Amino acid sequence: MKTKQELKQYQNFIGGRLTVSSSGKTMESVDPSTGKAWAQIPLSTQEDVETVVAAARHAFPSWSALSAEERSSYLRRIGDSISVHAEELTKLETRDNGDVIGVAMYLAEALKSVWYDAAGACKECGQGKTVQMGPNSVGYTLREPFGVVLGILPWNAPLFTFTIKAAYALAAGNTVIIKPSQQAAVSSLRYGELLGEILPAGVLNVISGLGREIGDALVANRGVNKVSMTGSGSTAGAILRASAQHPKPSIFELGGKSPNIVFEDADLDKAVDGVIHAIYTSNAGQRCTAGSRILIQRTIFDEMLERITERVKNTIKVGDPMDPASTMGPLSSQDQYEKILSYIELGKKEGGEIVYGGRHGGENIVPEKAELSDGYWVEPTLFKVNSNSLRICQEEIFGPVAVVIPFETEEEAVAIANDTCFGLGAGVWTKNLNLAHRMIRNIESGNVWVNTYSRVGADLPFGGFKESGYGTDSVMDYSREKACVIEIGE
Ligand code: NAD
Repeated sequence: MKTKQELKQYQNFIGGRLTVSSSGKTMESVDPSTGKAWAQIPLSTQEDVETVVAAARHAFPSWSALSAEERSSYLRRIGDSISVHAEELTKLETRDNGDVIGVAMYLAEALKSVWYDAAGACKECGQGKTVQMGPNSVGYTLREPFGVVLGILPWNAPLFTFTIKAAYALAAGNTVIIKPSQQAAVSSLRYGELLGEILPAGVLNVISGLGREIGDALVANRGVNKVSMTGSGSTAGAILRASAQHPKPSIFELGGKSPNIVFEDADLDKAVDGVIHAIYTSNAGQRCTAGSRILIQRTIFDEMLERITERVKNTIKVGDPMDPASTMGPLSSQDQYEKILSYIELGKKEGGEIVYGGRHGGENIVPEKAELSDGYWVEPTLFKVNSNSLRICQEEIFGPVAVVIPFETEEEAVAIANDTCFGLGAGVWTKNLNLAHRMIRNIESGNVWVNTYSRVGADLPFGGFKESGYGTDSVMDYSREKACVIEIGE
C-alpha cells in the first residue's frame, strides 16, 4: 500500500495556474486494474467554485473579442500539440478508468481532428443571416457566445468528452470550466495544464471535486451561462433542479440501451464482429452507445449465437489495460463492479440464461497476474432472453453484459428496438437497401448505423432522442442567435 506522500499529486488548473483546493483536502484516484489508490486529486470547495467562475468570467471579454482567425489559430496550435502529449494523456486515462491502452491511444490521436475541426468552425458560428423586413427596415441576425460554459464529464471517456465540449465552446468565443468525474479526473487535470501552455489565462479551467458538492454549486452559479453534461439521466435531473432558480440552457448527452439488429440476409461474419465490438471491446461495455441488446432474426438465431460465443471465447483478451495485447480491461470502479455483478444476479433471477461468461474476480479472470487480483474484473457476459421487458433489457447496465433476443419480422424488430426509454444508437445488419432505409426511418434514436457500429464524424451531429438527452456538442449549440432590426430614416 502506498502512503499518501508516495501517491502522485494532481492539481486544479484555474486562471492559468495550478492550484490546490482551498481546504487543502484531496481525494484518492483508484487504479481499477489493481483496486489500489495511485494518485491524489483536489477535493474542491464552494470557495474554489467562486474562484474558477471569476477566472473564466474575467477572461471572457478578451477571448470573445478576438477575431475568428485569431481564435482559430489558438485551436489549430492545440491540434498540432496533441500528438506530442497523446501517449502521456492516454496512459493517465487508462490508469484512471481501465480502458485498454490500444483503444485509448487511438481515441487520443483522434482528439487532434476535433481541435482542427473546431478551428475551422470559428468563422461559421459568427455568421448570421439577413432577413426581409419591409422597404424601410433592415433585419439580420448575429451569433454570439453565451459567456462561461461549464462542461461536466463522465468517467468513461474523459479526454474525448473534455475535447468536444471545450473545443467547440472555445471556437464560439466562450470561456470554459471543465468539471471531470471524481472517479477519473487525472487525465483532465493534466490536459487542462497542457492546454494552458497555449491558451490565455482563464480561458480554459479545470476543477475537480464531488458532483453533488461543486457540480451543483457550479450549475447554480449565475456566472455560468451554459451547461453541457455527459453522464446519467439522474444527474441531468439534479442539474435541472439545481438550475431551477436561475434557468440556463443545457446540453445533455446521456445513457442508452442500444439495439444491434441482425437480419437473416446479413454478412454474418461482419455482423458477429460488429455485435462483439459494440459491447465487449468498447471499454468493457462502459460506453454510452454500447450495443447491449442484440436482436437476431429467428431463422439465424442459433447459428449466430454459436458464432458470437465462439468468437468472444477465442478473440477477446481480458487483461492488464496497459498491455497493448488486451482487448478488454476491468470495470472502472468498485461501485461499477458491484453494480454489474448485481445485474448479473438479477438477470439470472429474471429467468435469463447465461450462454457465455458470468464469472468475476481477478483470481478467475487474470490469474496469471497476482498484482491484478484485487481489480474489478468481470467476464464478457451474454444472456439469452425471450422478452425485452426484463429489467436487464430495459436498464442501462453499463458493463460487459449483453442480452440476445430473437425476433421474427421487421415490424417486431422495430417494436423491440423502440421499446425502451432511451434512443441513443442502433445498429442494423442487412444487405437489403430498402430494409435498411425503412429501419433508419422507423428507429427512434439519434444515431443509426447500417453494417457498421458507433461511427461518428465531426460533420455529423451526435446526440440522443428520448431520455438519451438533447442538444449536441457543436459550435452552433455553443452560440446563441440575436435578432436585430434597423429602421432606416428618411
Ligand atoms: P454521472 O451522471 O454519475 O456523472 C457525470 C458527471 O456529473 C460527473 O462529473 C459527476 O461528478 C457529475 N455530477 C454528479 N452529480 C452532480 C450534480 N448534482 N450536479 C452537477 N454535476 C454532478 O455519470 P457517469 O457515471 O460519470 O457516466 C456514465 C453515464 O454517462 C452513463 O449513463 C453513460 O451512458 C453516460 N454517457 C453518455 C455519453 C453520451 O455521449 N451520450 C457518453 C459517455 C457517457
